[in-house]
Amino acid sequence: MRVRAGVASDIGQVREANEDSYLAEEPLFAVADGMGGHRGGEVASRLALETVQRLFEARSGSLTDQVEEANRAVYERSLRDPSVAGMGTTLTAALVEGDRIQLAHVGDSRAYLFRDGRLRRLTEDHTLVHRMVQEGEITEDEAERHPHRSVITRALGVDPGVQVDEGSIQVAPGDRLLLCTDGLTGMVAEERIAAILAAVGDPQQAADRLVSEANGAGGVDNITVVILDVEGDGRRADPLEAPMTETLQDGASIRDADAGAVDRSSGPAPRRPPPVSPPRASAPRPPVALGRWAVRAGIAVAAIVLVLVGIRLYLDSQWFVGVSEDRVAIFRGVPVEVVGFDLHTVVVETPIDADEAQDLALYRDLDEGITADDRESAEAIVEQIRADVAQARVGGS
Ligand code: MN
Repeated sequence: MRVRAGVASDIGQVREANEDSYLAEEPLFAVADGMGGHRGGEVASRLALETVQRLFEARSGSLTDQVEEANRAVYERSLRDPSVAGMGTTLTAALVEGDRIQLAHVGDSRAYLFRDGRLRRLTEDHTLVHRMVQEGEITEDEAERHPHRSVITRALGVDPGVQVDEGSIQVAPGDRLLLCTDGLTGMVAEERIAAILAAVGDPQQAADRLVSEANGAGGVDNITVVILDVEGDGRRADPLEAPMTETLQDGASIRDADAGAVDRSSGPAPRRPPPVSPPRASAPRPPVALGRWAVRAGIAVAAIVLVLVGIRLYLDSQWFVGVSEDRVAIFRGVPVEVVGFDLHTVVVETPIDADEAQDLALYRDLDEGITADDRESAEAIVEQIRADVAQARVGGS
């Protein structure tokens, strides 16, 4: 199987530097989104990809081993060099091996498969908001607009070890793989991405088009796109005889929620059934029975009661880190106000200066609240803020 690639990376409309990096050296392709201040972000994303490429060329270990090694390289550099202390990067890599593509992934960049007009997400975001979606606290749509959607829970270079999601997919001619940083997905809806991938045949033109679309939508972040078009080498694989299989490890399987997101894509209906569809998704819903209004009304009243009780329990179980009296504080409840009523109370006020924390890009929106799973997580976030503020003082940045 041969691939034809298109790549584009752009600084966007707002940022002062492009901290994204990409790698496109057939058969190895990757994107990385660096963070940690100007120099740090650039160094982290580049060093990570250079490490993966060097180890691949030396035929050292699996793709996942190479990504783990890249984590160590970034981590050790950040310890040695104070000018890049605290840097980190996402990394989403694809290795083409015959009719399979291996994937390795950490962070909130993404890999998608575009097949038969449908866009399907292959990776899971390692973000706070994704965790909230998994726990049913917010919907996928709310996650896309959440003020803290860019807070990531896993990155390369932050700890000596990292958990890498890995997987592989079988591909056939006509398949299109998209790797991208959140500068694309934060700006352009998946429906729109699918429409562009359907409309623009040439992979380079499609990559350029996606970047200009993200810039047109505001371009608030760096944007990087790698597109791989799978081309035949004479014989055409029959996807029904060779069904696509996934082997994502450590529980990071492709989730139905993601399949649902894909179903919203506005591409043409597939002419053949998708090679893999979750069995639940294919079962048609029974038609709704009519004429049972009394039962429905009863259910509606019960539902309202449950919602009211639920709101109280929900508020009591929610935690977030925000600002109280110019200090970083831990709150219980949700960080909103409804017609003058705060839906939260301060639980712990810390001595950390909120302005100082908000000077750091990661905590710029602190006054809107960073949601936590529980009190322990809220305390962990406070610890992280404390460490980052101390780091910034030492680094003088
Ligand atoms: Mn980004």
